[in-house]
Amino acid sequence: MKQSFYDLSYSDLEAVASENDLSPSVPAVLFNWHYKKKEINRCRNKISKSSSAFFDAHFDFSLPEIDTVYQSNKDRTVKFLFKLKDQYKVETVLIPFNNKYSICLSSQVGCAMNCSFCFTGEQGLKRNLATNEIIGQFLQAWRWLATNRPGEERILNIVFMGQGEPLHNFDAVKKACEIFLSQYGTSIGTQKITISTAGYIPGLKRWSQEIPGVNLALSLHSPYTEKRNELIPLNKKYPLAEVVSYIDQIPLQKKQFITYEYILIKGFNDTADDANKLGKMLAGKSAYINLIPFNEFPGSRYTCPDAAAIENFKAVLDTYKIPTLIRGTKGDDVLAACGQLNSNQQIRKQSLNPAEIIP
Ligand code: SAH
Repeated sequence: MKQSFYDLSYSDLEAVASENDLSPSVPAVLFNWHYKKKEINRCRNKISKSSSAFFDAHFDFSLPEIDTVYQSNKDRTVKFLFKLKDQYKVETVLIPFNNKYSICLSSQVGCAMNCSFCFTGEQGLKRNLATNEIIGQFLQAWRWLATNRPGEERILNIVFMGQGEPLHNFDAVKKACEIFLSQYGTSIGTQKITISTAGYIPGLKRWSQEIPGVNLALSLHSPYTEKRNELIPLNKKYPLAEVVSYIDQIPLQKKQFITYEYILIKGFNDTADDANKLGKMLAGKSAYINLIPFNEFPGSRYTCPDAAAIENFKAVLDTYKIPTLIRGTKGDDVLAACGQLNSNQQIRKQSLNPAEIIP
């Protein structure tokens, strides 16, 4: 099987060019063509016939197919269901702000973390996505915008908050980040990319060493061990205190901060006591809190607190002088909001056993 072109970082492509005696201009030309211009067609006139023949022979330029597009009737959120070559499916969401978008990318088919509040977790982990399948979500969504909402094809932020635990598929996510960051291609700034994690320490270590400028969000959800164990079983293996103290010693770049995500669940983690404990834990850090009212999904066991309870929770955090944002829910009418992604409907294959795959 041919290798996907979209699995190559710029330096990989340079190595391919030099090993095969292609012109040294080939990497810049191809990155520019496919990532800056975002052309679908193969690049023919800007590279030599022999280079073109070489890429035809050795590389695959196809992208994940868009299976279904769901457009919200409430806001301009768009959810894509992608069909991969082995028939697995993953979802990607374009989240609007002004006339621009953030894109929420998936990193795995399903997820091994099995968080009790997350629809994706119910699928189990089927497999990791390859870099080309991550990059492909972005390129296809961009092209969909260019065709269907011309003039709006501006995707300014990338968040790894779709299906999967990105730090549990580190190699593919790292290479995707390298491609997004490349000045020859999409040239997206490090601060415009955010990786969200449930607190997977082996991946956190690699993030801090290998892609340090890329933003990090930690799904915190409760400062209490028992509650967090219930919400995020991974907490039993990598307890919050260890995760936070690891993060604390990472040198951050200027203006870089860590986002702490906190899902508000009615009657579970939404009291003033929870807020005080959280505030004490994060006060004085380069922290930014994202409060996410729980999004319900078919069969979910939790519910969302009312607006007053959410505001009260924020008011307590404000006393600790931690910048806090209540994340507005977008796209929930098409199950595109946080935790509502689940592409299991069409396909049932054996899931991998998390005990075997989490080192
Ligand atoms: N595995 C990563 C990224 C995917 S989830 C992580 O755990 O961070 C992206 C965000 O959506 C996380 O903060 C997650 O906790 C949150 N989320 C999951 N299910 C949700 C739900 N039902 N309602 C609100 N937020 C949810």
